[in-house]
Amino acid sequence: MSDVTSSRIEGFHKLDPAGRLLAVQRQAKLDNKSVSDLVEAASGHIELADRLVENAISSISIPVGIATNMTVDGRDVLVPMASEESSVIAAVCNSAKRCRSTGGFKTSTSGPLMAAQIQLLGASDPENVRLKVLERIDDIRTICEEIDPLLVKLGGGFRDLDIRVIDTAEGPMTIVHIIVDTRDAMGANAVNSMAEALAPKLEEWTGARSLLRILTNLADRRVARVRAVWPLEEIGGEKVRDDMLSAYHFADADPYRAATHNKGIMNGISAVVLATGNDTRAVEAGAHAFAARDGRYRSMSRWEKDGDGNLVGILELPMAVGLIGGATKIHPTAQANLKILGVTTADELARIIVAVGLAQNFGALRALATTGIQKGHMALHAQNVALMVGATGEEIDQVASELKALGKVRQDLAEEILARLRQGDKA
Ligand code: NAD
Repeated sequence: MSDVTSSRIEGFHKLDPAGRLLAVQRQAKLDNKSVSDLVEAASGHIELADRLVENAISSISIPVGIATNMTVDGRDVLVPMASEESSVIAAVCNSAKRCRSTGGFKTSTSGPLMAAQIQLLGASDPENVRLKVLERIDDIRTICEEIDPLLVKLGGGFRDLDIRVIDTAEGPMTIVHIIVDTRDAMGANAVNSMAEALAPKLEEWTGARSLLRILTNLADRRVARVRAVWPLEEIGGEKVRDDMLSAYHFADADPYRAATHNKGIMNGISAVVLATGNDTRAVEAGAHAFAARDGRYRSMSRWEKDGDGNLVGILELPMAVGLIGGATKIHPTAQANLKILGVTTADELARIIVAVGLAQNFGALRALATTGIQKGHMALHAQNVALMVGATGEEIDQVASELKALGKVRQDLAEEILARLRQGDKA
């Protein structure tokens, strides 16, 4: 625990980032080295951080690596991935290489349809309320289009209504979903604004009271799908293939395993979502909710063997990402990463993201079904441990390679090795 005297700092949000950092230093009794680390970490982009979030004092940089070997719908693409976790990027490169001979990843999408929910309460006749709202579909379209004429001009805008009467602990509620084509935007602000503008009108037309008005992250009308075939010889033979299928069946049947299996898929997905300045939490919430859509939390991916004995992987997930809005448009790193990807629509980006998720899943299943996950992690993990114990410069590689040679990546051993190296230098 830090030594914070009080968490109350009068007028904190009105200070500039440097002023806030000073206040935090005072309050948390922070040493000068930590302060200069925080300043250096945000050097050159503290103004951007201050524009993106409240109470900014610094920023934290996450490595961006490139996934090579990816072919998506016949086009080779270099994929920037932002991740602090070792082995994630290597796994994608390796898995993508192994399915190049069968044409790589084939994708499709459902179109960029997002939905916002408006909760209607207090009516004794919720089904009647449902019909009353449906009768107003043309008025609803007009209100939504007035909110975002630019979106309409770009070919997007209101598309449909979906109204459900749900049972809750306090009785039935009528839930209005407005379905909106948000084109190249993730669309949260767009649909939220529409829902807020509609709510008073729905009250007027139905006599019910509106309460919540916000998008759903279960964007199941904005689905991106990918499939790929890994030839038997690239997998390592029939035994490895069958063991990978058994690993998948385990994940599909057991939520404890599914959580980790799906976390692996999200290692790939969230890394591209983050690298492009998109909302990782929105995509993660949608993906996990979608994985539980039939009432049980299951594997996000599907695996089968085809008639030739090759392994077929399939991934289908909500993918609410955009090229406009949020940090995407204003973060220079996100912009540069989008240029590397060479995408011009949110739809193309969504396709690449699910392809990376599937590649990640192939890599994890294959590693788990063969050597286990730790072998691949060893090299970078050894370097991380060397850094943790204070190794610098050449010492990092020296400590890491001794740890690897020992086959034991442990902090206590790293400390011993580092001490010995430094002793040797002095001698
Ligand atoms: P936005 O409102 O900044 O931009 C979207 C708007 O840009 C559109 O409404 C349209 O008017 C305009 N536009 C210009 N060119 C466009 C094009 N080619 N395609 C589509 N629209 C175009 O952004 P947004 O996508 O509505 O909102 C995304 C942000 O909302 C993210 O930062 C997300 O984190 C945040 N958010 C998320 C949630 C959630 O997920 N639950 C809730 C609130 C906010």
